[in-house]
Amino acid sequence: MLKILSFTFSPVQENTYVLYNEQGQCCIIDPGCYFQQEREELKTGIEKTGLTPVMLLNTHCHLDHVFGNKFIYDTWGLQLHFHEKEKPVFDFAPQSGALWQLPFDNYDGPIVYLKEGNIIKIGEEKLEIRFAPGHSPGHIAFYHEAGDFIIGGDVLFNMSIGRTDLPGGDFHTLVNSIQTQFFTLPDDTKVYPGHGPVTTIGFEKMNNPFVKLY
Ligand SMILES: [Zn+2]
Ligand SMILES: [Zn+2]
Repeated sequence: MLKILSFTFSPVQENTYVLYNEQGQCCIIDPGCYFQQEREELKTGIEKTGLTPVMLLNTHCHLDHVFGNKFIYDTWGLQLHFHEKEKPVFDFAPQSGALWQLPFDNYDGPIVYLKEGNIIKIGEEKLEIRFAPGHSPGHIAFYHEAGDFIIGGDVLFNMSIGRTDLPGGDFHTLVNSIQTQFFTLPDDTKVYPGHGPVTTIGFEKMNNPFVKLY
C-alpha cells in the first residue's frame, strides 16, 4: 500500500502529493511549489523520508498544479506524465501565470501521455488512471485501490466541486465525471483533493451540495 506525504503550496494554496512504497520509491503529483522556500520544503520532505522520486504526474495542467514541474525535472530528471487532452492547458499555463501575476518557467522536457484505464506502477503498487473531465478537458485522477484512496485533483472537494468557468470547463461534464468515476468507488474511499481538506466518497454523496445523492 502506498503512503502519502502532502504539502500545500503557492498563493493559490494547492495540495501537492508524494506517494511512496515500502522501498522508498515515490511519485510526485501536481508539484505546486512556487517560491524557492517551497521547492526546498518539498525536496527536504522527500529526502528526510528517505525517498527516491521515480515519476512525475499531473492530474491536470492549471498553473497552480504545474509550477514545480520544471524544478522536479531539473532536480531528479523525471519526465512529465499527463493526459493528451490537457496539452492546450499545459501550453497556456505560462500566459495564465502572467495574467495571475504569478509568472513561472514552464516544464520543457519530454511529455508522456496517460490514457484512461492505464495502470501506473510504483514498484509493485498500482495507480489506476480515471478520466474525469469537466474542470479541465483532460483531467485525470489516480486511484489506489489497495490504499482506499484517490488523488482527485480539482474534480471533487470537501463540500464543493471544481470550477467550470475556465477554458475547456463544463459543469454537466464535471458532474458526470464525479458520478461515474468517483461515486462508483467504495464509500470509505478517501479523496485527496487539489485544494482543501481530505474527504471521503461516502461523505460527499451525503453532504456535497452540488452532487449529493441522498
Ligand atoms: Zn484546476
Ligand atoms: Zn487547482
